[in-house]
Amino acid sequence: MHKPHPDLNLEQDPRYVADVTGKEGLESGIAVSFNPATGEPIAGVRLDTAESYEQTIRESQEAFKRWRSVPAPVRGEVVRNIGNEMRRLLGPLGEIESMEVGKIRAEGIGEVQETVDIADYAVGLSRMVGGRTVPSERPQHRMMEQWLPLGLVGVITAFNFPNAVWGWNAMLAAICGDITIWKPSLLAPLTAMATNAVADRVATQMGHPGVFRLVIGTDEEIGERMIADRRLPLISATGSCNMGRHVGQVVAGRLGKCLLELGGNNAVIVDKDADLDLAAKSTVFGSVGTAGQRCTSSRRLIAHKDIADDLVGRMARAYKTIKIGDPLEEGTLVGPVIGQRTVDAFTNAVEQAKAQGGEVLVGGNVAKPEGLGGWFVEPTIIKAPASNELPIAMEETFAPILYVFTFDSIDEAIDMQNSVDQGLSSAIFAGSVNTTEKFLNVDGSGSDCGLAYVNLGTSGAEIGGAFGGEKDTGGGREAGSDSWKAYMRRQTCTINFGNELRLAQGIRFE
Ligand code: NAD
Repeated sequence: MHKPHPDLNLEQDPRYVADVTGKEGLESGIAVSFNPATGEPIAGVRLDTAESYEQTIRESQEAFKRWRSVPAPVRGEVVRNIGNEMRRLLGPLGEIESMEVGKIRAEGIGEVQETVDIADYAVGLSRMVGGRTVPSERPQHRMMEQWLPLGLVGVITAFNFPNAVWGWNAMLAAICGDITIWKPSLLAPLTAMATNAVADRVATQMGHPGVFRLVIGTDEEIGERMIADRRLPLISATGSCNMGRHVGQVVAGRLGKCLLELGGNNAVIVDKDADLDLAAKSTVFGSVGTAGQRCTSSRRLIAHKDIADDLVGRMARAYKTIKIGDPLEEGTLVGPVIGQRTVDAFTNAVEQAKAQGGEVLVGGNVAKPEGLGGWFVEPTIIKAPASNELPIAMEETFAPILYVFTFDSIDEAIDMQNSVDQGLSSAIFAGSVNTTEKFLNVDGSGSDCGLAYVNLGTSGAEIGGAFGGEKDTGGGREAGSDSWKAYMRRQTCTINFGNELRLAQGIRFE
């Protein structure tokens, strides 16, 4: 049985419960974290209550008054040290993630690396966040924008990125002068505890306690309280479209700001002149990586009818060599899915696809790697009927299923790619610049997604760009570019340095 690495100091955390015998239900006040590879409990975490939540918020309001007065580049120094400590603990933090959510070791470590990267980025940003000076229409007047700390930022995260999504938010929020209050998924509370403890320990040692807070609890007790709380001007929520629809409405109801990062239903278009080897390799990673549990996983393959069989044949051969098993074991490429809920969703989707005329080309079954009692499914490829009608493919099933469609013209392929409710990630493999430019068309007639890749798969974003999606994906943007603006408030300042009253629009009032 896997146990958390001692360097994470989890056992010293008062929330940590090593022996969870008889504490399976949340009514015990403890969330038990299970290893999805073995189905065994790892440890438990004491849940927050309404009272402890209240105390956290009150302390955070005090911490905000101190932190907002720290110069931004000095906040950047704190973030630099957090990034360095994450770098030092890359292995143990990646491992706890593998244990809790089933990511293979390389992907667990890769996720922590994303937090290191965004920390580096935020350090630079701490000397750059600033506004513009705008020409005033009035003589002896100056107009300028300044960006101010926002306050307490509520960060709600999904189970599948239990470290980096917090990092994208918290590292930017920190240099902006905000306090982050993180509510992680109850499926990955240990990763959250270990991650937050690194940031809190470093900040506290540098004289800034209380900048990174964690509240762990049920959606009813803590989640609902948090999204309705007017003391949190921004809620950044990552998860399913259903969750986002609810969170968005509650936050809008109190006129708060919301940053939503929701589900995707991402397609890869492969034209007949594409490099098929590159397209096959990228799409295999995109669809089976993280056992199909990335918001950016490739779920639909839209292939030109002349090359579809060849492409799918190459992919099918690759699928057959993929080792499914313990995510911490060398050579494993596909670990478990998060739990029985996902196994059921997978089985149900495969059955529906068959009933709708889909043909299972590869996989389609629950998997049972030897010696592991957890939750595994086979990476699966399902071919849509010649009509391209396959309603189940319009939904995001959070499992490694790739549906294959065919097209004749690139316009038809783009229409198919845009035909789903979500708009997160999209990709095209093609040899002709005319085709790829159609996909990226500046008139907006190409991909309708927040992310568009050319000769690259749908998953694997870099932190330097703004990350997020359109339509039911929620419209939020995190990480690079100007995403930092979500964590600050803008003030337009006008200064009269003359002695006369001059009104805008030339109005005379004498
Ligand atoms: P989920 O919607 O079940 O839960 C996400 C988070 O929302 C959890 O922390 C959960 O506790 C919280 N939550 C749920 N109801 C709430 C409520 N009423 N009030 C407050 N908080 C509430 O999602 P999941 O199964 O953990 O994650 C998978 C989903 O997340 C997929 O749809 C995936 O595409 C999406 N996702 C999106 C992104 C992105 O950046 N767009 C990234 C990762 C995951």
